[in-house]
Amino acid sequence: MTETGPTPPAGDTAARRILARASQLGWKTTDADEIERRLARAATEPMEVANLEPAEPFYSSFIVYSQGSGMKYRVEIRSLSARQNSCTCVDFRVNGLGTCKHIDEETARRLLDAGAKIVEKARARLAQEALRA
Ligand SMILES: [Zn+2]
Repeated sequence: MTETGPTPPAGDTAARRILARASQLGWKTTDADEIERRLARAATEPMEVANLEPAEPFYSSFIVYSQGSGMKYRVEIRSLSARQNSCTCVDFRVNGLGTCKHIDEETARRLLDAGAKIVEKARARLAQEALRA
């Protein structure tokens, strides 16, 4: 065994693989590639999120603090399925995709919260299966 540290979570590994592939594609990317790239950045870059309207836990306005750049952005989430959200960062303004890594971070976090119970059940089931094996 050459493993030296803890195993990173599966999603983190997938995100790093996407980022590695993105650097090979260079400028030859589709909108889907670019959105995937932002999701991967959201999964690998440390960010803090604060809800500016706590009474509205889902469709609300948030401050996203990027620990890497030290910058703060205002993100407004209006939909999880349509691209109706906005962010004050430069990438959102110029990329024409209707999303950015800050929106993806916020969207992903709320989807994770909503899916947390499903994940807990799946983990419990896997643990049960592991005990039986
Ligand atoms: Zn942004």
